[in-house]
Amino acid sequence: MLNIQGQSTALAHIQRVVHSGRIASTWIFAGPTGVGKFHTAVEMAKTSLCDHPIHRPNMQNGELFNALLEPDFVLTLPCGQCESCKAIELSTHPDLHVVSRELIRYHDRDGKSKGTTLSIQVIRGEMIGDDSPEHRVEPKIYKRSQRGRGKWFIIDDADVMVIPAQTSLLKTLEEPPAQTFIILITTSPTELLSTIRSRSQFVQFRDLSFAVMVPELVNRGAGEAQAKLLARLSGGSLGRAIIFMQAVIASDRDEQDKADTKTPATDQPAFPHWINTISSTLDNIFTGRNGGMALAEVIQKSAEQYAKTMLKRDPLASKDRFVRDGVGLMLGFVAAWLDDRLRHATGAQIIAPLPSHVQAIPLANAQECIAVCRQAEMQADMNAHIGVLLASTCIALEQALRTAVPA
Ligand SMILES: [Zn+2]
Repeated sequence: MLNIQGQSTALAHIQRVVHSGRIASTWIFAGPTGVGKFHTAVEMAKTSLCDHPIHRPNMQNGELFNALLEPDFVLTLPCGQCESCKAIELSTHPDLHVVSRELIRYHDRDGKSKGTTLSIQVIRGEMIGDDSPEHRVEPKIYKRSQRGRGKWFIIDDADVMVIPAQTSLLKTLEEPPAQTFIILITTSPTELLSTIRSRSQFVQFRDLSFAVMVPELVNRGAGEAQAKLLARLSGGSLGRAIIFMQAVIASDRDEQDKADTKTPATDQPAFPHWINTISSTLDNIFTGRNGGMALAEVIQKSAEQYAKTMLKRDPLASKDRFVRDGVGLMLGFVAAWLDDRLRHATGAQIIAPLPSHVQAIPLANAQECIAVCRQAEMQADMNAHIGVLLASTCIALEQALRTAVPA
């Protein structure tokens, strides 16, 4: 658990528990997307399964010194050299089981899954087994650890487990097999049954700071200005920023191939075309040259492009889910454009502003618009019809923006 930046509180918590030697059998790692929960879970399993774990005082941990632990606190870390550590790095360790959305299709017998929930079949197939005569599956969770140091199960996106899946898992959590550890990873812990939550050791992860994200993104090939913009727009989620960066690069490449000359000229070429288009559409709504429906169309089209790009990376995933993610992303740009105007109005500092010809808009109206966006982002996550949602949202935005135009 060395190289996870910006999560001192969570890591200190985990180190203290590991140090005490009383490791709970079930854990919940909660926090925003892409801030290191999954990575930390794998590192924790790696430490526990390592043949020769390292014990090193905190103060000797270089730039990863954890200020929340005493300087002489003895950290437990994976060696990174043994057969077990190497197997984990290659994702081939027989005692580390990852249950993720990627397995949904594999267990989907009737082929109807949209890939948005973890069904009871996935939990049975990957963990607790199935004793129905036609689909007999051995329970992995009751098998002996193959390398003799226990077994770990990491359930990614645990909140998308349907209730029957959670209930069946709960029975296992009530009487966990010896030396078996489960980490439930979630952005929304309240979606988990309270009976699961009460049996779990809870670790909270938080948004990453700008100071952590910008250098990470620059390391991965973003320019300084682009890294700042990505850090800002991804709301403290490095994972989201990286996915966004890849989607933007791929989509911008497609766009260049089409030699689209409609993209407005800007003196900041670091902006991906999605941001340029959304920003100029908002400028035009504000000045009365566009209506709300123009924005709805731009968002819908951009979200579909985003989904197309993402499906190329992950062809088994659900297109519907990616379109919803894309709508969330584009609405995030709208919110950022509004946030810039609000900052202009209050004289607050703007880090990595979006391109726009519009300066300040009155506070009350900007706030009203931001509330409309946030509401829509939440509904996009749920099952609202995307077309209807975008139309109503963009018309509400148009009204809120138009009344903001000074007489
Ligand atoms: Zn090792």
